[in-house]
Amino acid sequence: MKIELAENYGFCFGVKRAIKIAEENTNAATYGPLIHNSKEIARLDKDFKVGLVEDFQTFKPGDKAIVRTHGIVKDELAQLKENGIEVVDATCPFVTKPQEIAQEMSEKGYDVVIFGDESHPEIKGVKSYATHGATVVTSVEELHDLKFHERIALIAQTTRKVEDYMEIANYLIPRHKEVRIFNTICNATFENQEAVRKLSKKADVMIIIGGKNSSNTKQLFNISYENCPNSYHIEDENELESEWFLNKKHCGVTAGASTPDWIIQNVINSIEKSIN
Ligand code: SF4
Repeated sequence: MKIELAENYGFCFGVKRAIKIAEENTNAATYGPLIHNSKEIARLDKDFKVGLVEDFQTFKPGDKAIVRTHGIVKDELAQLKENGIEVVDATCPFVTKPQEIAQEMSEKGYDVVIFGDESHPEIKGVKSYATHGATVVTSVEELHDLKFHERIALIAQTTRKVEDYMEIANYLIPRHKEVRIFNTICNATFENQEAVRKLSKKADVMIIIGGKNSSNTKQLFNISYENCPNSYHIEDENELESEWFLNKKHCGVTAGASTPDWIIQNVINSIEKSIN
């Protein structure tokens, strides 16, 4: 059986940057998980003494708090600084951008509409920057009962599919005088998505590696599943099952944007062992 890695997979620019920042700031704690990968979080704790704090009230004056790639809510950031906590910002610049857009457009009087998951930390953060509030939707259907003013600013969660975002834009444009659409979908997500689309069309089994709560890994899985029903989302090599590879000729492998290379390599090694 041939094992093939997608042309683009794994860590994106933002995550590489955040991990480097964490490694350079030992004896600190990240506020919320830095990335959606529990194994990498454990490595940072063990090797670099970078812990994890879930409740920002736990930080004491003089502590060092690392803000995660997905960013945090504006008020909490202000409060951390007010409480005398040293803030090291590892928010990905591609997340800072929609935060800035939300604030600017809201202040200019636009109704801010965000296409994304309201419970996701990135969207909680972006929404908090819209001075006059924002509406978060996950589908066109949710827009049907909503009323907006004439001017709308549309922002997407960085991990969303372009096609889905276009559906939202197509619905809003004919119904409003002005719709400003910002392409805030991250290229890294897009590149990994294109690569999994291509690979899953030719593979007869697909392994998608990433945290179970990582939304970009779930997106990769969904795209893969459309083309290859034998698609499996795993966190690491321990979840592999040898029968997945029985009578298979071509195994495609990809990984979400928060999956470190060492986990990907472990998975490939295990697949190789299981087929020999
Ligand atoms: S997926 Fe994109 S937006 Fe998210 S951390 Fe990576 S580079 Fe930044």
